[in-house]
Amino acid sequence: MRLYPIETGNFKLDGGAMFGVVPKSIWTRTNPADANNMIDLAARCLLIEEGNRLILVDTGLGNKQSDKFFGYYYLWGDHSLDNSLEKYGFHRDDITDVFMTHLHFDHCGGSIQWNKDRTGYEPAFKNATFWTNPEHWDWATKPNAREKASFLKENLLPMEESGQLRFVAVPENHFASDSALDFGIRFVNGHTEKQMLPTLKYQDKTVVFVADLVPTVGHIPLPYVMGYDTRPLLTLDEKRIFLDEAAENGYYLFFEHDAHNEICTLKQTEKGVRLDTVHRFDEIFTS
Ligand SMILES: [Zn+2]
Repeated sequence: MRLYPIETGNFKLDGGAMFGVVPKSIWTRTNPADANNMIDLAARCLLIEEGNRLILVDTGLGNKQSDKFFGYYYLWGDHSLDNSLEKYGFHRDDITDVFMTHLHFDHCGGSIQWNKDRTGYEPAFKNATFWTNPEHWDWATKPNAREKASFLKENLLPMEESGQLRFVAVPENHFASDSALDFGIRFVNGHTEKQMLPTLKYQDKTVVFVADLVPTVGHIPLPYVMGYDTRPLLTLDEKRIFLDEAAENGYYLFFEHDAHNEICTLKQTEKGVRLDTVHRFDEIFTS
């Protein structure tokens, strides 16, 4: 098995919304805000090569929304999904599976694109199976008013209509159990219903794709929970269990949203679990 970090392009979100009840005077120390109170975020995906399977975890924001829509998210930097795949010798048509942690637009927007004459939408990975789970699909396709702006129907319906959508069984805790792939799934329900966090054994290390459970290094302390979470008290429980387990077992947290830190380890301190060391992906894993 080989893993590759895939940068799909950076964006920004409101710092206050990203830190919930934590005051700005505190969170700006780790996540400085710009003049509009926006903080830097990445949409860093993970590519897994195993045998003849090429699995992409999440797909970023994509490029089909309007300029007005993207205007709210202050896109920056020059990463793109295609360039990042090309860097490792891959093309989007090589992708066999797209595994989506959840269906908020910044995680699955890149799964769907305009068709050639821009009259409708089509899957952006024509040879891939798209994976979610039944409970999350149900939640996303009948959205509550709070998450409605994050579950865009143009991201969801074309996946189903194409016949390329499949469900991971819940509480299945292993993806692709028919293969040699060591790909565990951790389900968490505080951010949204049945978010799925991939856990991979790689080069004698445990790598966890922490997605929206721990968006950035600044979110490691327990009460630093996003205002976007639908069940913040549940996030507290899920995060406490995860952080303790991660510190104890030396997990490597792979950040999807931290624009400046790719991976970190954690340590137990008197105040609770805190950052131990930040790593660059290519420093700790050999290619
Ligand atoms: Zn989300």
